[in-house]
Amino acid sequence: MAEFKLCDEDGKLYTCRNCRTPIALGDDLISKQFKAKSGAACMFGHAMNVVLGYKQDRELITGLFTIADIHCSRCGEELGWKYVRAFDIRQRYKEGKFIIECVKIVKECS
Ligand SMILES: [Zn+2]
Repeated sequence: MAEFKLCDEDGKLYTCRNCRTPIALGDDLISKQFKAKSGAACMFGHAMNVVLGYKQDRELITGLFTIADIHCSRCGEELGWKYVRAFDIRQRYKEGKFIIECVKIVKECS
């Protein structure tokens, strides 16, 4: 496997800050404009090496959603959540997408 080094630009690969397991590809980054508990968060179309927690309904800023927490499959660190279902039809585009807190991942460049 190729060596990756940290970078300040948009990463090619996003890995778990704890254990450096690959979590998402730069190509799957949709938005960096999200807010989470700890601050900024990124939306990804796909994520890998994550484990889904229990589904729960949660009232977020943009409405009511069914979400599931996501954890790193290797170290168990909570990374963010996945939108499972949006109750508001205008929010449906978020369904199946992953929100990952920026502080929980690091950007890597090849
Ligand atoms: Zn990890």
